[in-house]
Amino acid sequence: MIHFSNVSKVYGKNIVALDHVDLGIESGEFVFLVGASGSGKSTMVRLILKELEPSAGGITVNGVRLSAIPRRGIPRHRRSIGCVFQDFKLLPNKTAAENVAYAMEVTGQRPRTIRTKVPQILDLVGLRDQMEKFPDQLSGGEQQRVSIARAFVSQPPILIADEPTGNLDPDTSVGIMQLLHRINRIGTTVLVATHDREMVDVMRKRVVALENGRIVRDKARGVYADEV
Ligand code: ADP
Ligand code: MG
Repeated sequence: MIHFSNVSKVYGKNIVALDHVDLGIESGEFVFLVGASGSGKSTMVRLILKELEPSAGGITVNGVRLSAIPRRGIPRHRRSIGCVFQDFKLLPNKTAAENVAYAMEVTGQRPRTIRTKVPQILDLVGLRDQMEKFPDQLSGGEQQRVSIARAFVSQPPILIADEPTGNLDPDTSVGIMQLLHRINRIGTTVLVATHDREMVDVMRKRVVALENGRIVRDKARGVYADEV
């Protein structure tokens, strides 16, 4: 589903963010990408979205070589990947329902589809009764649920979350991880970049660890760090 083959990324002249990365994520997997701040996690996410080009190596997403996608094909590529970020990125002047609906409108979906889908997806993320609230009337965890609803409403085959619990307390974070897990169980390939140790350790999913732009560990049912 997502394949990195010998990928390096150098910013400017000499900031090596990724150093010969090989990684394969298969359809339906749930993978944690862990590592200290600056280890290269977000760079991998941005490469997958084709927001950045690799300095060397090749990336395939959904069977498509990213280097073969022309500029005009990029929006379509990005629509196949739902994205969730640490800072939610909700529109402050729109309600929860309107935030989700807006994401569907800009991709040209029919009003009828939008009217049916929005309440369904907000129900799935546990916000049925909060649909008409604005972001500043919602807790951090609830705002993150809205952003997950928005990312997943068109059921993309891949969902990527970059530090989704970075602004949340531990209890709230558990709920967000459980939601991502549910989305994975529906058949979505899920990649979560995080340095949230506790969360990674309770979930017991595949853990890929980055250190200075290199993959130093890749374990099925892993924990954040190896026991010493
Ligand atoms: P992480 O998400 O794990 O914190 P990043 O992928 O954001 O790591 O960053 C990896 C390295 O690349 C860091 O040294 C960071 O400072 C550097 N970096 C990230 N983005 C840029 C950029 N746009 N320009 C220059 N250096 C960058
Ligand atoms: Mg990052």
